[in-house]
Amino acid sequence: MKTLIIIRPDSVLRGLVGEILTRFEKHGIRIAGLKVMQLDKEIAGRLYEIHKGKPFYDSLLNTMIESPVVIAVLDTDVLDNQSAIALVRRIVGATDPSKAEMGTIRGDFGLRIDMNIIHASDSVEAAAREIPIFFRKEELVKYKC
Ligand code: ATP
Ligand code: MG
Repeated sequence: MKTLIIIRPDSVLRGLVGEILTRFEKHGIRIAGLKVMQLDKEIAGRLYEIHKGKPFYDSLLNTMIESPVVIAVLDTDVLDNQSAIALVRRIVGATDPSKAEMGTIRGDFGLRIDMNIIHASDSVEAAAREIPIFFRKEELVKYKC
């Protein structure tokens, strides 16, 4: 299975990239693709297209484009797709950091719902839609063991 995470601009500026990637690696989840990128409104809008029209949509896009992000495709063959995505979301924690459990990425580092550290695909379908927005097939590696 593969899923997408984006370490948001403020988290990159705060120097949290290594710490965040380590959390996934410690679970045995591997990095199949990794890039640093400055998003623009078009690409951030594609990522968050399901939120178009919501009151926080414009500020969400502005937050995502203000400085570079780190984008990773995470991979594990040990779990089925659904369990793997559920595990990644559990490591990430609830959307609102004030409600996220301590020990999750958002619970430990997040400040507010609009400063919640990281994006993670929330379903198998979302991962399949989101990964090609940022990575070509040749940019993703396959682990043999
Ligand atoms: P993400 O898609 O970023 O991983 P999520 O799946 O936990 O987050 P979504 O409901 O998809 O939550 O919201 C997308 C993003 O929009 C959130 O990460 C958050 O930054 C922002 N957001 C969601 N709800 C609100 C809100 N009520 N007010 C402000 N920002 C919000
Ligand atoms: Mg979401």
